[in-house]
Amino acid sequence: MERTLILLKPDALQRGLAGEILARFEAKGLKLVGLKLMRMSPELAAKHYEAHKARGFYPGLVKFMTSAPIVAIALEGIGAIKICRNLMGATFGADAAGGTIRGDFGVSRSFNLVHGSDGPEAAERELKLFFPEGLLDQDLAAYRWIYDPEEELKAK
Ligand code: UDP
Ligand code: MG
Repeated sequence: MERTLILLKPDALQRGLAGEILARFEAKGLKLVGLKLMRMSPELAAKHYEAHKARGFYPGLVKFMTSAPIVAIALEGIGAIKICRNLMGATFGADAAGGTIRGDFGVSRSFNLVHGSDGPEAAERELKLFFPEGLLDQDLAAYRWIYDPEEELKAK
């Protein structure tokens, strides 16, 4: 099982799309192991986006992400990181394929509704930043219908 950090960005909440976006991850079969409504501090934004510090869009990105509340979400599943990136779609709304979150709900290059960790190391680092208290494990009865117990769940 793999865990990943998803952020519903300020535009998602301001546009009333938080529930609809969370529902897509949930319906896919990913397990919710962390959920938090919060306001990102400039310090947290700087840590979270430290890889982008030298980029021209960085000041605007930090301003946007700290401008209003966000929802931090931790999701678990086999291959969760890639699954979430696929559900999110390409970075810029105008380029993102229909059927994806960014493709269906946005047109902007910066206001793109959702963040998702881009690899296992980023996921581990980001989950610690947003959920320093740890995550909540839950035994999902539906797992035996989401995954094949004879194959996919055997080694887990
Ligand atoms: N971003 C932006 N302008 C750009 C590129 C990125 O405003 O030209 C913002 C956008 O909100 C994006 C975030 O910076 O989601 C992080 O960029 P990254 O390349 O990591 O894209 P992502 O992983 O979110 O698809
Ligand atoms: Mg990224």
